[in-house]
This record gives sequence, structure tokens and C-alpha cells, in this order.
Amino acid sequence: MSNCIFCRIASGDLPANVVYQNADVTAFRDIHPAAPVHVLIIPNQHIDNICDERAYSSDILGRMFQAANQIAAVEGLAESGYRLLLNYGPDASLSVPHLHLHLLGGRHLGPMVMPA
Ligand code: AMP
Repeated sequence: MSNCIFCRIASGDLPANVVYQNADVTAFRDIHPAAPVHVLIIPNQHIDNICDERAYSSDILGRMFQAANQIAAVEGLAESGYRLLLNYGPDASLSVPHLHLHLLGGRHLGPMVMPA
């Protein structure tokens, strides 16, 4: 999708700090990092979100998680640990409508959800 910023990053049309890319996925550093390591892993093909049927018609979710784990190891997080996060909808503050997985680590990340 030409008007999707993450599609443009995957195709190389928009600059980003890309840390990993293969035929299926692209991973790049989040522009507003919430942790010392904050990488976004996206499918190269446009998939709107986790409710999009295209997420299930291929092995793309598995490939995204596999890439995330490989990147975590390269970033030195294998022993200290890390968090993989996927937002959907307004209550989760989803802001970019292209499926993406957040890889966060490099410090103690605290509780999974901010207490109400
Ligand atoms: P979400 O809230 O799950 O939709 O997360 C979208 C993430 O994309 C946010 O953490 C943004 O900081 C990040 N982001 C938006 N535009 C860019 C960009 N051009 N390069 C890197 N990260 C971006």
C-alpha cells in the first residue's frame, strides 16, 4: 500500500534504522523507543492488523516471532529477557495500521500493564 508508512519502510522507499530483513519480514528500530532496545517487526506484505485474515493464510506470524527472537539474541537480550507486544484497537493505542510486533528489552520492563 503506497500510503502505508510501514509498507514504505519495508520497500526501502522511506528511511528507517533497519536491523533485519528477509523475504517475509522487516525489522527496524522504533522512532520513539520505550526501552533501550525497541524494534518493530513487520510483514513485508501489507496486513492491516491481527484481525486481518491475511495474517493466518500464511506462516507470517510464526516468521515474525522467529525474527523477533533472532533479533533479541543479536541485541544481547537472550539472557536478560525481553517482551514481545502486539497492540490492537484504540484501548491498546494502536497507531499504525500495518501489522507489527514490538520487541522491547534492555532494562527491567516492569508490570505488563500499567495499573489502573
Ligand atoms: P502501535 O502503537 O502499536 O501502533 O505502534 C506503532 C509504533 O510505530 C510506535 O511505537 C511509533 O513510535 C512507531 N513508528 C511510527 N512511525 C515510525 C517510523 N517512521 N519509524 C519507526 N517507528 C515508527
